[in-house]
Order: sequence, then structure tokens, then C-alpha cells
Amino acid sequence: QKFTDLALHPTVAENIKRMKYNDPTPIQKNAIPLMLGGVDLLACAQTGSGKTAAFLVPILSRLLIKLMKRPRTERKPGERRQKASPLAVIILPTRELGIQIFDECRRLSYRSRLRPCVIYGGASINVQKEQLAKGCDILVATPGRLVDVIERGFVALSLVKNVVLDEADRMLDMGFEPMIRQILLNGDLPRDEGLHTAMFSATFPQAIQILARDFLSDNYARIR
Ligand code: AMP
Repeated sequence: QKFTDLALHPTVAENIKRMKYNDPTPIQKNAIPLMLGGVDLLACAQTGSGKTAAFLVPILSRLLIKLMKRPRTERKPGERRQKASPLAVIILPTRELGIQIFDECRRLSYRSRLRPCVIYGGASINVQKEQLAKGCDILVATPGRLVDVIERGFVALSLVKNVVLDEADRMLDMGFEPMIRQILLNGDLPRDEGLHTAMFSATFPQAIQILARDFLSDNYARIR
């Protein structure tokens, strides 16, 4: 199976070629068709397996295909958004992983109308606020900082179509579960059939299974 066999948006397909990804890795072969089909996912994936592209490729592709049908909303020069309203949110444990995934997202969304943004703790929230206000379609974030920008009203989750928990087991180990639950279950996240969710984890302790049960749709697929 090749990337060209998958029904990807042409811009994403072009960027994959530009990045010289010739063949999908095993996790990509498994996850991309399922996520393109809108199936929720609990996937076992180690760092280095290509898991980032496994979720970014179908998410960017689906969003772009949907957006093709909608005219771009024009803004006047210099006009700023009140709040960032991302279409996809990727939640992960560390600043390093955030920067890495943001970078891959930037390359995969090159020459598309989707704008990625990354936020994490330990850095100036005002600088991040400015970046969010310039537009943010794909938000890559650590849990604490995400709660913070939502509470301060810099970010709304009401337009979100995709949520990914990356390195979910590490986030639980680091004590982020309350923040994750706050974001996923209590916020303005539209929890309906239009919301697609995926969890990536290297290990599957009971706490991960419980989070998957609470957060993924009932008929989620499991990839080992
Ligand atoms: P990840 O597991 O997502 O951190 O990816 C590990 C590394 O593999 C990253 O440097 C990616 O750029 C690279 N990579 C991901 N998918 C592919 C692919 N299909 N072909 C070649 N390299 C890839």
C-alpha cells in the first residue's frame, strides 16, 4: 500500500512527496484509512514509528476536503480575531514533542489554508496569545497551557472536529489527567457525531482503557 492509494487531499499528497515519505509506515497503513473514514482510534505507537503523520495526514486531508466546499471568510487587512477557533487540537505531554509535531504539521499543511500553532507552559502566554490571534486552525498544545488559554478566553473549542491525545500514557504519568478531562468533557467541545477522536499510547494500563472508554466513541478501533 502506497500513499498514492489513499484518497488524500492533493495538497497533503504533494507535501508528503516533498517530504520524501515514499511508503507509509505500519502505523500509518493502519491508522490513516480508519481516520479518513471517521473512525475513532486507540493506537499503540512508539516514538519513531511515524505516529505523527499517522494522525496528521488524515486530519489535514479531511479538513481540507471539507473546507474546499466552503468559501474562505475574508478579513480586512490588520483585522484580528477575537478568539482562536481551531478545527483540530493535538494534546501532548511536553514542549519538545509539541515543537516536533508543530514542525511536522507545518510541513504537511504547507501551501494549504490551514494554519498550525503550538503552545506550551513555561513560555510567555502573551506571546502565544498574539500568535493565536493571527489565526490557528490546528492547535498543538500541552494540557496545562491549553486549560489556561481556554480559561482566559484566548481559545474557543466550539469549531473543533478532531482531537488527538498523543503519548497518552505519559500524560497520565505526569498527572495531566484532570486537565485532559476538563478539556475533553467539560469545555465547549462539541461532543457530537461531528467530533473525531484518537488516542496514541505506548502502553495500555487500566487508566488508559478508562480514558478511552470515556473519551472515544463506543465503536472505536484498536490498533496494536
Ligand atoms: P514520529 O514517530 O512521528 O516521531 O516519526 C519519526 C520520524 O520518521 C520523523 O522524523 C518523521 O519525519 C519520519 N517519518 C514519518 N513517516 C515517514 C514515512 N512514511 N517515511 C519516511 N519517514 C517518515
